[in-house]
Amino acid sequence: MISIIIPVYNEEEVLPALYERLTRVMKGTGEEYELVFVDDGSTDRTYQILKNLHEKDPRCKVIHFSRNFGHQIAITAGMDYARGDAVIIIDADLQDPPELIPQMLEKWRAGTQIVHARRVKRKGEGLFKRATAALFYRILKALTDVEIPVDVGDFRLMDRKVVDSLKGMRERNRFVRGLVSWTGFRQDEVTYVRDPRYAGTTKYPLGKMIRFALNGITSFSDKPLKVASLLGSLLSLAGFLYLLYVLYLRLFTDQVVQGWASIVVLILVFNGFTLLSLGILGEYVGRIYDEVKQRPLYIVEETLGVEQKEIRHG
Ligand code: UDP
Ligand code: MG
Repeated sequence: MISIIIPVYNEEEVLPALYERLTRVMKGTGEEYELVFVDDGSTDRTYQILKNLHEKDPRCKVIHFSRNFGHQIAITAGMDYARGDAVIIIDADLQDPPELIPQMLEKWRAGTQIVHARRVKRKGEGLFKRATAALFYRILKALTDVEIPVDVGDFRLMDRKVVDSLKGMRERNRFVRGLVSWTGFRQDEVTYVRDPRYAGTTKYPLGKMIRFALNGITSFSDKPLKVASLLGSLLSLAGFLYLLYVLYLRLFTDQVVQGWASIVVLILVFNGFTLLSLGILGEYVGRIYDEVKQRPLYIVEETLGVEQKEIRHG
């Protein structure tokens, strides 16, 4: 059986079209399948529509969160509940074409355990989004040793083995695509052109995007923490050389170094740098704090078509 996981947050406009297209593609594959919708605390008619879909077609399963927990957590819940031998994650807004699924299944049958879908082109997304996304993937690649493929989102197929190992990773500030690669199973990719959103607006405003990027970097690299010690030593070396120069002028010449401007500049630069390092430290400490609290990743209010599981800790 194949499980399709679809995180949905206020997607009432796209659900009917999504259901149509997914059903057409999945029927075409001849496989048995289930559609696991994770309703991430939607406030519009999303849950009502999902209920109707479930009543019409029992292959539609629904997990309804008590509030918005975020995209990455929704995907995680989907994996906790999915029962397929292969699991496919797909966005609800039809930016990831369901028609790519047969190709992914083919690679999976040939023995690949993780099939990523890499976007060679993104349509209908602003320059800002495209540029920041491209930059983010490259920074992440430079900072981490885990082989996280570039320009790959969460649209992917995973074998049951991969999903089972992911289920053991309960970290709170999750960056799922990194965790997937971290497992080290055989990866391959298919490529596609990313369509514009079918309807509605993005559910990833700038704030969520920044948080997401920081989660990716902090979960898979500790290099930012070392920036402070590196720059610190460079700056103190520069300071020491400058001190020698000032002493030399004072002792062996009759020149005096002019003070005010240089002091102000130094204070600003050094304090800025100190605060920045503290901020970086704060990002990591905050995440440690989140982990230590050991709260569950999400709270399920209701499920349709699957039995609700007990809340899992840690
Ligand atoms: N999503 C979610 N919870 C959130 C934000 C988004 O489940 O808090 C879902 C959303 O419904 C969609 C997917 O995650 O299915 C990707 O979101 P979106 O298309 O808005 O992101 P973008 O493509 O603009 O980056
Ligand atoms: Mg989208």
